[in-house]
Amino acid sequence: MTPAQEAPPDGAHANAAVYAASALQERVKELTCLYGISQLSERFDGCIEKILQGVAELIPAGWQYPDIARARITIDGCSYSTAGFSPGPQRQAAAIVADGRPRGSVEIVYTELRPERDEGPFLGEERSLLDEVAAKIGLIIERHQGKDERSRLQTQLLHADRLATIGQLAAGVAHELNEPLSGILGFAQLARKHPNVPAHAADDIQKIVNACLHAREVIKRLLLFARQGPRARSRLSLNEIIAGALDLFEHHLKKEAITLVTALDPYLPKIEGDPGQLTQVLVNLVTNAIQAMPQGGTLTIRTAAGAGDVVCVVDDTGVGMGEDVRSRIFDPFFTTKDVDHGTGLGLPVAHGIVAAHGGTIAAESDPGRGTRFTIRLPIEEPGE
Ligand code: ADP
Ligand code: MG
Repeated sequence: MTPAQEAPPDGAHANAAVYAASALQERVKELTCLYGISQLSERFDGCIEKILQGVAELIPAGWQYPDIARARITIDGCSYSTAGFSPGPQRQAAAIVADGRPRGSVEIVYTELRPERDEGPFLGEERSLLDEVAAKIGLIIERHQGKDERSRLQTQLLHADRLATIGQLAAGVAHELNEPLSGILGFAQLARKHPNVPAHAADDIQKIVNACLHAREVIKRLLLFARQGPRARSRLSLNEIIAGALDLFEHHLKKEAITLVTALDPYLPKIEGDPGQLTQVLVNLVTNAIQAMPQGGTLTIRTAAGAGDVVCVVDDTGVGMGEDVRSRIFDPFFTTKDVDHGTGLGLPVAHGIVAAHGGTIAAESDPGRGTRFTIRLPIEEPGE
Protein backbone atom coordinates (compact mmCIF):
# COMPACT_ATOMS: atom_id res chain seq x y z
CA MET A 1 0.00 0.00 0.00
CA THR A 2 1.31 3.37 -0.90
CA PRO A 3 1.15 6.18 1.68
CA ALA A 4 -1.20 8.06 -0.58
CA GLN A 5 -3.79 5.28 -0.47
CA GLU A 6 -3.54 5.16 3.34
CA ALA A 7 -4.22 8.73 4.20
CA PRO A 8 -7.83 9.84 4.74
CA PRO A 9 -9.55 12.21 4.54
CA ASP A 10 -7.85 13.92 1.60
CA GLY A 11 -6.66 10.60 0.13
CA ALA A 12 -8.32 11.27 -3.20
CA HIS A 13 -6.31 14.43 -3.55
CA ALA A 14 -3.01 12.78 -2.74
CA ASN A 15 -3.82 9.92 -5.09
CA ALA A 16 -4.44 12.30 -7.92
CA ALA A 17 -1.18 14.07 -7.13
CA VAL A 18 0.82 10.83 -7.27
CA TYR A 19 -0.92 9.86 -10.46
CA ALA A 20 -0.21 13.25 -12.01
CA ALA A 21 3.43 13.09 -10.91
CA SER A 22 3.95 9.66 -12.42
CA ALA A 23 2.11 10.60 -15.61
CA LEU A 24 4.30 13.66 -15.84
CA GLN A 25 7.38 11.56 -15.31
CA GLU A 26 6.30 9.20 -18.11
CA ARG A 27 5.65 12.15 -20.37
CA VAL A 28 9.07 13.61 -19.60
CA LYS A 29 10.72 10.27 -20.40
CA GLU A 30 8.80 10.09 -23.65
CA LEU A 31 9.75 13.61 -24.70
CA THR A 32 13.38 13.05 -23.69
CA CYS A 33 13.46 9.98 -25.89
CA LEU A 34 11.90 11.73 -28.91
CA TYR A 35 14.06 14.81 -28.42
CA GLY A 36 17.15 12.58 -28.21
CA ILE A 37 16.24 10.98 -31.53
CA SER A 38 15.92 14.36 -33.26
CA GLN A 39 19.28 15.41 -31.85
CA LEU A 40 20.94 12.21 -33.00
CA SER A 41 19.65 12.57 -36.52
CA GLU A 42 21.07 16.07 -36.66
CA ARG A 43 24.39 15.20 -35.05
CA PHE A 44 25.15 12.19 -37.26
CA ASP A 45 23.53 13.67 -40.34
CA GLY A 46 24.29 11.33 -43.23
CA CYS A 47 25.53 8.39 -41.17
CA ILE A 48 22.45 6.24 -40.82
CA GLU A 49 24.26 3.42 -38.94
CA LYS A 50 25.33 5.76 -36.14
CA ILE A 51 21.87 7.27 -35.89
CA LEU A 52 20.15 3.89 -35.62
CA GLN A 53 22.64 2.62 -33.05
CA GLY A 54 22.17 5.81 -31.03
CA VAL A 55 18.38 5.52 -31.18
CA ALA A 56 18.52 1.88 -29.98
CA GLU A 57 20.56 3.02 -26.99
CA LEU A 58 18.13 5.84 -26.17
CA ILE A 59 15.01 3.70 -26.11
CA PRO A 60 15.39 1.80 -22.77
CA ALA A 61 15.46 5.07 -20.78
CA GLY A 62 11.93 5.80 -22.01
CA TRP A 63 10.52 2.60 -20.47
CA GLN A 64 9.29 1.88 -16.97
CA TYR A 65 12.16 -0.46 -16.04
CA PRO A 66 15.14 1.00 -17.88
CA ASP A 67 17.67 -1.22 -16.10
CA ILE A 68 16.28 -4.43 -17.50
CA ALA A 69 15.09 -2.99 -20.84
CA ARG A 70 17.01 -3.82 -24.03
CA ALA A 71 16.24 -2.50 -27.50
CA ARG A 72 16.89 -3.59 -31.05
CA ILE A 73 16.24 -1.92 -34.40
CA THR A 74 16.26 -4.07 -37.51
CA ILE A 75 16.34 -2.44 -40.95
CA ASP A 76 16.65 -4.38 -44.21
CA GLY A 77 18.18 -7.29 -42.32
CA CYS A 78 20.77 -5.18 -40.40
CA SER A 79 20.41 -4.95 -36.62
CA TYR A 80 21.38 -2.25 -34.16
CA SER A 81 20.90 -3.22 -30.54
CA THR A 82 21.82 -2.32 -27.00
CA ALA A 83 24.31 -4.63 -25.27
CA GLY A 84 22.73 -7.81 -23.96
CA PHE A 85 19.69 -7.84 -26.22
CA SER A 86 18.15 -11.26 -26.56
CA PRO A 87 14.59 -12.03 -27.57
CA GLY A 88 12.49 -12.86 -24.52
CA PRO A 89 8.85 -13.53 -23.65
CA GLN A 90 8.19 -9.93 -22.51
CA ARG A 91 8.56 -8.17 -25.76
CA GLN A 92 7.00 -5.17 -27.43
CA ALA A 93 7.56 -4.45 -31.12
CA ALA A 94 6.51 -1.97 -33.81
CA ALA A 95 6.96 -2.19 -37.55
CA ILE A 96 9.10 0.39 -39.37
CA VAL A 97 7.70 1.61 -42.67
CA ALA A 98 9.59 3.85 -45.10
CA ASP A 99 8.32 4.98 -48.51
CA GLY A 100 5.22 2.89 -47.93
CA ARG A 101 7.23 -0.33 -47.63
CA PRO A 102 7.81 -2.39 -44.47
CA ARG A 103 11.53 -2.20 -43.76
CA GLY A 104 12.00 -3.78 -40.35
CA SER A 105 11.06 -3.32 -36.72
CA VAL A 106 11.95 -1.75 -33.42
CA GLU A 107 11.69 -4.04 -30.39
CA ILE A 108 12.04 -3.76 -26.68
CA VAL A 109 12.39 -6.67 -24.24
CA TYR A 110 12.67 -7.00 -20.47
CA THR A 111 15.40 -9.34 -19.33
CA GLU A 112 13.44 -10.19 -16.16
CA LEU A 113 9.73 -10.84 -15.71
CA ARG A 114 7.61 -7.94 -14.53
CA PRO A 115 3.89 -7.86 -13.55
CA GLU A 116 1.25 -7.63 -16.22
CA ARG A 117 0.10 -4.16 -17.25
CA ASP A 118 -1.68 -2.94 -20.40
CA GLU A 119 0.29 -5.00 -22.94
CA GLY A 120 2.23 -7.68 -21.10
CA PRO A 121 4.37 -5.73 -18.63
CA PHE A 122 4.22 -2.64 -20.83
CA LEU A 123 2.11 0.48 -20.36
CA GLY A 124 -0.29 1.92 -22.90
CA GLU A 125 1.92 5.00 -23.09
CA GLU A 126 4.89 2.83 -23.94
CA ARG A 127 2.99 1.39 -26.90
CA SER A 128 2.31 4.92 -28.20
CA LEU A 129 5.93 5.89 -27.65
CA LEU A 130 7.22 2.81 -29.46
CA ASP A 131 4.91 3.49 -32.40
CA GLU A 132 6.12 7.06 -32.48
CA VAL A 133 9.76 5.98 -32.37
CA ALA A 134 9.12 3.55 -35.26
CA ALA A 135 7.50 6.34 -37.28
CA LYS A 136 10.45 8.64 -36.60
CA ILE A 137 12.95 5.97 -37.70
CA GLY A 138 10.91 5.53 -40.90
CA LEU A 139 11.18 9.26 -41.57
CA ILE A 140 14.93 9.29 -40.87
CA ILE A 141 15.40 6.46 -43.36
CA GLU A 142 13.30 8.19 -46.02
CA ARG A 143 15.30 11.37 -45.60
CA HIS A 144 18.58 9.51 -45.76
CA GLN A 145 17.57 7.76 -48.99
CA GLY A 146 16.53 11.03 -50.57
CA LYS A 147 19.96 12.45 -49.77
CA ASP A 148 21.77 9.46 -51.23
CA GLU A 149 19.84 9.73 -54.47
CA ARG A 150 20.40 13.48 -54.66
CA SER A 151 24.13 13.22 -54.09
CA ARG A 152 24.39 10.48 -56.73
CA LEU A 153 22.59 12.66 -59.27
CA GLN A 154 24.72 15.62 -58.32
CA THR A 155 27.95 13.68 -58.84
CA GLN A 156 26.68 12.52 -62.20
CA LEU A 157 25.80 16.06 -63.20
CA LEU A 158 29.11 17.42 -61.97
CA HIS A 159 30.92 14.79 -63.97
CA ALA A 160 28.98 15.54 -67.15
CA ASP A 161 29.50 19.25 -66.60
CA ARG A 162 33.20 18.83 -65.99
CA LEU A 163 33.54 16.71 -69.10
CA ALA A 164 31.79 19.35 -71.17
CA THR A 165 33.89 22.19 -69.71
CA ILE A 166 37.13 20.31 -70.13
CA GLY A 167 35.99 19.44 -73.64
CA GLN A 168 35.66 23.11 -74.57
CA LEU A 169 38.93 23.98 -72.93
CA ALA A 170 40.66 21.07 -74.59
CA ALA A 171 39.36 22.06 -78.02
CA GLY A 172 40.64 25.61 -77.52
CA VAL A 173 44.07 24.51 -76.37
CA ALA A 174 44.31 21.87 -79.05
CA HIS A 175 43.61 24.35 -81.83
CA GLU A 176 46.11 26.82 -80.39
CA LEU A 177 48.81 24.18 -80.12
CA ASN A 178 48.20 22.52 -83.44
CA GLU A 179 49.62 25.33 -85.52
CA PRO A 180 52.95 25.90 -83.75
CA LEU A 181 53.33 22.16 -83.47
CA SER A 182 52.95 21.71 -87.22
CA GLY A 183 55.63 24.38 -87.64
CA ILE A 184 58.04 22.65 -85.26
CA LEU A 185 57.43 19.29 -86.88
CA GLY A 186 57.81 20.62 -90.42
CA PHE A 187 61.02 22.51 -89.73
CA ALA A 188 62.52 19.66 -87.72
CA GLN A 189 61.85 17.29 -90.59
CA LEU A 190 63.46 19.78 -93.00
CA ALA A 191 66.47 20.29 -90.71
CA ARG A 192 67.04 16.58 -90.41
CA LYS A 193 67.21 16.26 -94.20
CA HIS A 194 69.91 18.91 -94.40
CA PRO A 195 73.11 17.35 -95.81
CA ASN A 196 75.56 19.00 -93.42
CA VAL A 197 73.87 18.06 -90.11
CA PRO A 198 76.30 16.20 -87.82
CA ALA A 199 75.13 12.74 -86.77
CA HIS A 200 74.43 13.55 -83.10
CA ALA A 201 72.44 16.64 -84.09
CA ALA A 202 70.41 14.49 -86.51
CA ASP A 203 69.65 12.16 -83.60
CA ASP A 204 68.46 15.06 -81.49
CA ILE A 205 66.32 16.36 -84.32
CA GLN A 206 64.79 12.91 -84.68
CA LYS A 207 63.85 13.10 -81.00
CA ILE A 208 62.09 16.41 -81.68
CA VAL A 209 60.23 14.82 -84.57
CA ASN A 210 59.14 11.85 -82.40
CA ALA A 211 57.99 14.12 -79.60
CA CYS A 212 55.99 16.20 -82.10
CA LEU A 213 54.34 13.11 -83.53
CA HIS A 214 53.35 12.02 -80.04
CA ALA A 215 52.00 15.47 -79.23
CA ARG A 216 50.04 15.47 -82.49
CA GLU A 217 48.43 12.19 -81.48
CA VAL A 218 47.42 13.67 -78.13
CA ILE A 219 45.91 16.70 -79.83
CA LYS A 220 43.99 14.49 -82.23
CA ARG A 221 42.48 12.69 -79.26
CA LEU A 222 41.72 15.94 -77.50
CA LEU A 223 39.81 17.19 -80.52
CA LEU A 224 37.91 13.96 -80.73
CA PHE A 225 37.11 14.20 -77.03
CA ALA A 226 35.86 17.75 -77.43
CA ARG A 227 33.53 16.89 -80.26
CA GLN A 228 29.97 17.22 -79.03
CA GLY A 229 27.27 14.88 -80.19
CA PRO A 230 27.32 12.39 -83.00
CA ARG A 231 28.27 13.93 -86.33
CA ALA A 232 27.18 11.44 -88.89
CA ARG A 233 24.09 9.44 -88.12
CA SER A 234 23.14 6.27 -89.78
CA ARG A 235 21.31 3.08 -89.08
CA LEU A 236 24.08 0.65 -88.24
CA SER A 237 24.80 -2.74 -86.81
CA LEU A 238 26.97 -2.69 -83.71
CA ASN A 239 28.18 -6.17 -84.68
CA GLU A 240 29.65 -4.74 -87.88
CA ILE A 241 31.32 -1.92 -85.96
CA ILE A 242 32.88 -4.47 -83.62
CA ALA A 243 34.06 -6.67 -86.47
CA GLY A 244 35.57 -3.61 -88.19
CA ALA A 245 37.38 -2.48 -85.05
CA LEU A 246 38.70 -5.98 -84.38
CA ASP A 247 40.13 -6.16 -87.90
CA LEU A 248 42.47 -3.35 -86.90
CA PHE A 249 43.84 -5.47 -84.03
CA GLU A 250 44.09 -8.85 -85.72
CA HIS A 251 47.85 -8.74 -85.99
CA HIS A 252 48.29 -7.25 -82.54
CA LEU A 253 46.20 -9.87 -80.77
CA LYS A 254 48.21 -12.69 -82.32
CA LYS A 255 51.49 -11.07 -81.41
CA GLU A 256 50.43 -10.58 -77.78
CA ALA A 257 49.20 -14.16 -77.32
CA ILE A 258 45.65 -12.99 -76.70
CA THR A 259 42.78 -15.29 -77.52
CA LEU A 260 39.83 -13.49 -79.00
CA VAL A 261 36.35 -14.80 -78.28
CA THR A 262 33.34 -13.15 -79.88
CA ALA A 263 29.71 -13.97 -79.24
CA LEU A 264 27.72 -11.53 -81.33
CA ASP A 265 23.95 -11.83 -81.31
CA PRO A 266 22.95 -12.40 -84.97
CA TYR A 267 19.52 -10.85 -84.32
CA LEU A 268 20.90 -7.71 -82.71
CA PRO A 269 18.63 -4.77 -83.59
CA LYS A 270 20.22 -1.92 -85.50
CA ILE A 271 20.90 1.37 -83.80
CA GLU A 272 21.25 4.99 -84.84
CA GLY A 273 24.76 6.38 -84.57
CA ASP A 274 28.05 7.61 -85.92
CA PRO A 275 30.04 4.61 -87.20
CA GLY A 276 33.42 6.38 -86.92
CA GLN A 277 32.86 7.42 -83.33
CA LEU A 278 31.49 4.06 -82.24
CA THR A 279 34.49 2.37 -83.85
CA GLN A 280 36.65 4.71 -81.77
CA VAL A 281 34.90 3.51 -78.59
CA LEU A 282 35.68 -0.11 -79.42
CA VAL A 283 39.24 0.72 -80.39
CA ASN A 284 39.81 2.48 -77.06
CA LEU A 285 38.39 -0.39 -75.04
CA VAL A 286 40.29 -3.05 -76.96
CA THR A 287 43.53 -1.04 -76.69
CA ASN A 288 43.13 -0.89 -72.90
CA ALA A 289 42.29 -4.59 -72.73
CA ILE A 290 45.41 -5.49 -74.70
CA GLN A 291 47.55 -3.23 -72.52
CA ALA A 292 46.06 -4.87 -69.43
CA MET A 293 47.16 -8.33 -70.61
CA PRO A 294 50.92 -8.05 -71.17
CA GLN A 295 51.32 -11.79 -70.50
CA GLY A 296 48.47 -12.69 -72.85
CA GLY A 297 44.96 -13.73 -71.90
CA THR A 298 41.45 -13.79 -73.32
CA LEU A 299 39.50 -10.91 -74.78
CA THR A 300 35.78 -11.62 -75.01
CA ILE A 301 33.31 -9.40 -76.81
CA ARG A 302 29.63 -10.12 -76.65
CA THR A 303 26.51 -8.38 -77.87
CA ALA A 304 22.90 -8.94 -76.91
CA ALA A 305 19.56 -7.22 -77.26
CA GLY A 306 18.27 -5.61 -74.05
CA ALA A 307 14.97 -3.93 -73.33
CA GLY A 308 14.99 -0.95 -75.69
CA ASP A 309 18.75 -1.07 -76.08
CA VAL A 310 21.66 -3.13 -77.34
CA VAL A 311 24.33 -4.27 -74.93
CA CYS A 312 27.99 -4.80 -75.71
CA VAL A 313 30.27 -6.37 -73.11
CA VAL A 314 34.05 -6.28 -73.42
CA ASP A 315 35.83 -8.61 -71.00
CA ASP A 316 39.52 -9.10 -70.45
CA THR A 317 41.49 -11.39 -68.15
CA GLY A 318 44.12 -8.77 -67.46
CA VAL A 319 45.56 -7.03 -64.42
CA GLY A 320 42.27 -5.39 -63.42
CA MET A 321 42.13 -2.34 -61.18
CA GLY A 322 41.28 -1.43 -57.62
CA GLU A 323 38.38 0.80 -56.64
CA ASP A 324 40.70 3.84 -56.31
CA VAL A 325 41.56 3.55 -60.03
CA ARG A 326 38.13 2.36 -61.20
CA SER A 327 36.42 5.37 -59.72
CA ARG A 328 38.59 7.75 -61.78
CA ILE A 329 38.89 6.06 -65.18
CA PHE A 330 36.43 8.43 -66.88
CA ASP A 331 38.29 11.52 -65.63
CA PRO A 332 40.12 13.22 -68.48
CA PHE A 333 43.90 12.72 -68.31
CA PHE A 334 43.66 10.11 -65.59
CA THR A 335 46.16 7.39 -66.45
CA THR A 336 48.23 4.80 -64.64
CA LYS A 337 50.43 4.26 -67.71
CA ASP A 338 53.72 5.90 -68.54
CA VAL A 339 53.78 8.73 -71.01
CA ASP A 340 54.40 6.58 -74.11
CA HIS A 341 51.47 4.31 -73.42
CA GLY A 342 48.70 6.42 -72.02
CA THR A 343 47.18 9.86 -72.36
CA GLY A 344 44.28 9.20 -70.01
CA LEU A 345 41.81 10.19 -72.72
CA GLY A 346 40.71 6.80 -74.07
CA LEU A 347 37.88 6.25 -71.63
CA PRO A 348 36.70 9.89 -71.34
CA VAL A 349 36.45 9.88 -75.13
CA ALA A 350 34.53 6.60 -75.07
CA HIS A 351 32.28 7.97 -72.32
CA GLY A 352 31.63 11.19 -74.26
CA ILE A 353 30.73 9.33 -77.43
CA VAL A 354 28.47 6.81 -75.72
CA ALA A 355 26.72 9.58 -73.76
CA ALA A 356 26.20 11.59 -76.96
CA HIS A 357 24.47 8.52 -78.36
CA GLY A 358 22.12 8.47 -75.35
CA GLY A 359 23.82 5.38 -73.92
CA THR A 360 25.81 4.38 -70.84
CA ILE A 361 29.19 2.81 -70.23
CA ALA A 362 30.25 1.19 -66.96
CA ALA A 363 33.23 -0.76 -65.70
CA GLU A 364 33.56 -3.57 -63.19
CA SER A 365 36.91 -4.93 -62.24
CA ASP A 366 38.52 -7.56 -60.08
CA PRO A 367 42.17 -6.71 -59.44
CA GLY A 368 44.40 -9.47 -60.77
CA ARG A 369 41.55 -11.20 -62.60
CA GLY A 370 40.22 -8.86 -65.21
CA THR A 371 37.90 -6.08 -66.21
CA ARG A 372 34.50 -5.86 -67.82
CA PHE A 373 33.11 -2.86 -69.68
CA THR A 374 29.40 -2.82 -70.42
CA ILE A 375 28.02 -0.44 -73.00
CA ARG A 376 24.34 0.12 -73.54
CA LEU A 377 23.08 2.01 -76.56
CA PRO A 378 19.42 2.80 -77.14
CA ILE A 379 17.77 1.34 -80.22
CA GLU A 380 15.81 4.54 -80.62
CA GLU A 381 17.57 7.65 -79.38
CA PRO A 382 15.64 9.71 -76.84
CA GLY A 383 13.61 12.47 -78.38
CA GLU A 384 13.28 10.80 -81.74
P1 ADP B 1 45.04 5.44 -70.89
O1 ADP B 1 44.79 4.10 -71.50
O2 ADP B 1 45.66 6.40 -71.86
O3 ADP B 1 45.77 5.38 -69.59
P2 ADP B 1 42.22 5.46 -70.54
O4 ADP B 1 41.25 6.56 -70.33
O5 ADP B 1 42.01 4.57 -71.72
O6 ADP B 1 43.64 6.11 -70.56
O7 ADP B 1 42.26 4.55 -69.25
C1 ADP B 1 42.48 5.16 -67.98
C2 ADP B 1 43.03 4.17 -66.99
O8 ADP B 1 42.05 3.19 -66.70
C3 ADP B 1 44.23 3.37 -67.47
O9 ADP B 1 45.43 4.09 -67.27
C4 ADP B 1 44.15 2.13 -66.59
O10 ADP B 1 44.70 2.35 -65.32
C5 ADP B 1 42.66 1.95 -66.39
N1 ADP B 1 42.10 0.93 -67.31
C6 ADP B 1 41.38 1.16 -68.43
N2 ADP B 1 41.01 0.01 -69.01
C7 ADP B 1 41.51 -1.00 -68.26
C8 ADP B 1 41.47 -2.44 -68.35
N3 ADP B 1 40.84 -3.06 -69.34
N4 ADP B 1 42.11 -3.14 -67.38
C9 ADP B 1 42.73 -2.50 -66.37
N5 ADP B 1 42.80 -1.16 -66.22
C10 ADP B 1 42.21 -0.41 -67.17
MG1 MG C 1 43.50 3.79 -73.05
